[in-house]
Amino acid sequence: MRKSPLPPILDLPPKTLALIGAPLERGAGRRGCAMGPAMLRTAGLAESLSALGRPVEDRGDVAPGASRGGAPAVGRANHWGDVAAFIAPLSGAVTAALEDGRTPIIMGGDHALSMGSVNGVAAHCCKVGRALFVLWLDAHADFNTPETSPSGNMHGMSVAMLCGEPGFDGLLPQAERVGVTPGNVHLFGQRSVDSGERALLAGRGIQVDDMRRIDEFGVVAPLKEIIARVDAAHGHLHVSLDVDFLDPSLAPGVGTAVPGGATYREAHLIMEMLHDCGRVGSLDLVELNPFLDDRGASAKMLVDLTCSLFGARIVDPRGNGRQSA
Ligand code: MG
Ligand code: MG
Repeated sequence: MRKSPLPPILDLPPKTLALIGAPLERGAGRRGCAMGPAMLRTAGLAESLSALGRPVEDRGDVAPGASRGGAPAVGRANHWGDVAAFIAPLSGAVTAALEDGRTPIIMGGDHALSMGSVNGVAAHCCKVGRALFVLWLDAHADFNTPETSPSGNMHGMSVAMLCGEPGFDGLLPQAERVGVTPGNVHLFGQRSVDSGERALLAGRGIQVDDMRRIDEFGVVAPLKEIIARVDAAHGHLHVSLDVDFLDPSLAPGVGTAVPGGATYREAHLIMEMLHDCGRVGSLDLVELNPFLDDRGASAKMLVDLTCSLFGARIVDPRGNGRQSA
C-alpha cells in the first residue's frame, strides 16, 4: 500500500483560528447581514472556541474599498460596485491569514462575500500547490449569473462566479481572480434551485447532494463520499455555511428561509464528521440577519456548530464537552 506523503491536518498542532468580520449586506435582497459579525461576537464565538483550547485571534472587520459603481456586461446584478469593493480586500485578508498559518473563520455578511473569501483561499492553495475543495451548505445553489438571476441579488451568484461562469468580468481585478475547479465544488442541502441554475449545473460537473438525496440516504453516506475525495487529493476543504441550510425553526435569523432544512443533529453531525476528517482549513458563516433573528437563537446556533467543527464533543475524555447554557 502506498504511504501517504502528507498527514491529515488533524495530526498537526491545532492552528490559531483567525476571525475575520465581513459585514457585507448589499448582496442580499434585505438589509441586516451587516450586523452579523457583531452578533457573532456578542454570541461569544471567540470565547466559545477558546474554551475548547483553541488559540483564537480576532482580526476585526474588513474595510471595503470605495464603491466603484459598474455593472455586468449582460443581465442584472444589484449593487455590483458595493460587492466589488468588498470582495477584493476580503480575498486579500483571507490569503494573508492562511499565509500566517491561521485557519480563517469569515463572519458574514451575506453570501456574496464568499466570492472574496473562497477566492482568497484559492489563491493560497494555488501558491502552495494544494487542491481546493468547497463544501457549500445552503438551501440554494447560488449558481445564478447576472443573465439567469430572477432577482439580480448577488448572494445567489457566488458559486457561479467562483466556478468561472461568464458575466463577472471586472468584479475582481483579473490578476487577483483565481477561481475553483467546478468538479471540486460540492453543494449540500439544496431545496430551492432556480430553473436557470438547474440548467447550468447540469453541464458543469458540480456535485449536488440536495435534500431529496439527504432525505433518502441521510447526511453520513454523502458526506463520507465528499471527505474521501478530499482525502485522496490531500486537499484543503473550505466550508461555506449559509444559515438557510438549517431548518428555519432552528435558525429564523435569515432573509431567505426555506422549509425542510437540516435538523439540529444533522447539522452537528456534519460538523463533527468534518472535524474528525481533519481537512477543513477555512470556514464562512454567512447570511445571519440579526434583525430577523429570535433573541439570538440563530447566532447561538452558528456558534455551537462552529464549536462542533473545531472539536466540541458531547462526551470527550479531554473535557471538550458541550457547555449547557
Ligand atoms: Mg447562500
Ligand atoms: Mg441560501
